[in-house]
Amino acid sequence: MPSKPKSKKPSDRKPRKDKPCPICSRGIEYIDYKDLALLKPFLNERAKIKARRTSGACAACQKHLAAAVKNAREMALIPHSTR
Ligand SMILES: [Zn+2]
Repeated sequence: MPSKPKSKKPSDRKPRKDKPCPICSRGIEYIDYKDLALLKPFLNERAKIKARRTSGACAACQKHLAAAVKNAREMALIPHSTR
């Protein structure tokens, strides 16, 4: 059985530009859950946390960001979801 030509070789993929993490590049070392201006760009229109590949945040920032967003939801600063 011939192999399907579906598998993508690394050379077929778009070269990923090294975009700096938007939080690290701004010199923010603590993500405050009360800082909605900071959190808002990392939420989509349905108030869900954007994926790391979408937001461009590094692993450490994404982790702190998710915790901050969940905290903000608990404090009713951000809705759980919008339909
Ligand atoms: Zn970062």
